[in-house]
This record gives sequence, C-alpha cells and structure tokens, in this order.
Amino acid sequence: MAAEAERARVFFALWPGTTTAESLAHIASEAHKRFAGRLMRPETLHLTLAFVGTIERTRIADLVAAGDRVRVPRIELSIDTLGQWQKKHIVWAGPAEPGVALVSLVESLRAELEEAGMALERRPFVPHVTLLRNADCDTGRNALACPLKWQVNGFVLVESRLQSTGAGYEVLARWPRQ
Ligand code: ATP
Ligand code: MG
Repeated sequence: MAAEAERARVFFALWPGTTTAESLAHIASEAHKRFAGRLMRPETLHLTLAFVGTIERTRIADLVAAGDRVRVPRIELSIDTLGQWQKKHIVWAGPAEPGVALVSLVESLRAELEEAGMALERRPFVPHVTLLRNADCDTGRNALACPLKWQVNGFVLVESRLQSTGAGYEVLARWPRQ
C-alpha cells in the first residue's frame, strides 16, 4: 500500500462559474433559514458526476486520458428543485429530472473509467449540489421559487483534501482541455 501522500481522493464534477455559484449560494442561504446546518462555501459548490475515490497518484494520468475520450457537452441545467436527504442531513439543489444530455455525460464518463480499470460504485445518479450539511431536514423535494439556469460548457477532475474547515478541493484538469 502506498503512503498517504502518494494517494489522492478524486472525482469528476461540474463546477459552476462565479455567477452560478453565487446564485447557488443564495439558494443555500435561503435554505439555511429553514434547515440550519453548515453552509457550504460558495467556491466549493459542485455537482459530482463520477466519484472515483482514493487511488494511487500515478493513476491520475489514466483519469485524464479517460476524460479526454469523453465528448464535452453543452448542457443547460435547470436547477429547479430543493431536495432533502434526512439520513445524511443534507439539503441540496438540482434539476427535477437529470435530462438526457447529463445522463449521457455521466454514462460515457463511467464507461471510460471502467474501461481504464477504475472500480466505480454503481449508485443511481441523482444530480445534486450539496448546499447544507448537518441540516435539520426531512426527506422530500420542493420546487424552488426562483429556478436557476446553469450553462454547462465542460467538466473537471477534482482532488478532495479533507481539512478541519471542511473539504478542500483542487481542480486537477478541465475539459475542454486548456
Ligand atoms: P466531506 O466528506 O469532507 O464532508 P465531501 O463529501 O464534499 O466532504 P468527499 O467525500 O471527498 O468530500 O466527496 C467529494 C464529492 O463526491 C462530494 O460531492 C460527495 O458528495 C461525492 N461523493 C463522495 N462519496 C461518494 C460516493 N461513494 N458515491 C458518489 N458520490 C460520492
Ligand atoms: Mg464525503
């Protein structure tokens, strides 16, 4: 087993631009009035596409190569739903329906990752942006009073580093490649 420094916890995600992140943060602060809990910092808000987990750092190149084989879509996401997961104490925002373009992106990413030998958990994909943790919430979904349009032009590979202040994320690669 490699030393911790030689390993990385990574995932693919949609990362909002500043304006979308601010709108999501506004939805989060409204939700906080109702559900309390811990607000995610605006710069950490994201939508996970495929969670790879902890891997040897040397495999990051394989992940980048897998990302290179995925067609970069343009998607207009309608963030119209506020969801609650009671057991996880999470409140999130997302689209009511994932939509074919997003599902197709997730499926091609998963297929390329499996092709590259990455073992992925086959959980059903529920597109969501976590807004609150440790929230005093229930289960269920509500329509957002002010839905948000999120123009997606690409996706990212991110490393998650656990910190005392909550998760710290570092973007390792972006698609389209820059
Ligand atoms: P923390 O775990 O420190 O509270 P976090 O959940 O944001 O913070 P990670 O656990 O590294 O950080 O997870 C990164 C992203 O991947 C998050 O969006 C998280 O919801 C998602 N994720 C974590 N584990 C899984 C999993 N097993 N399946 C699908 N998505 C996951
Ligand atoms: Mg986690």
